[in-house]
Amino acid sequence: MDKKKLDYFRKRLESRQHDLRRMVSRTQQDGRTVDEDSAQDIADRAASSYTKEFLFHQSNNDRQLLQMVEGALDRIREGNFGECISCGKEINSKRLEAVPWTRHCIECQEKLEQGLLEQTSP
Ligand SMILES: [Zn+2]
Repeated sequence: MDKKKLDYFRKRLESRQHDLRRMVSRTQQDGRTVDEDSAQDIADRAASSYTKEFLFHQSNNDRQLLQMVEGALDRIREGNFGECISCGKEINSKRLEAVPWTRHCIECQEKLEQGLLEQTSP
């Protein structure tokens, strides 16, 4: 991949990383606020634990995505960005454009979703 293209993806990934970091830390703060505000009423308590649960899952998703984005930035530094981590083939540029943090080419992604490929940890 040429440098211009790499720079373009790096910028996109970095701004995504920035947003996600902010979101993850804000969700943590929101979680704390819910704790402090928790009322004595049982219905309110249930609502607050529901909110906490929701925030927890939300922040988990964000955290997971953040990990993927950071992994992609690592691969840019290491010079293997845009290659499928499973088969080593170049990932389709349209796919990269849509999901720059993807680690698999479309074929491997499909195998992964069908359970035919072992999921590798980031
Ligand atoms: Zn592949």
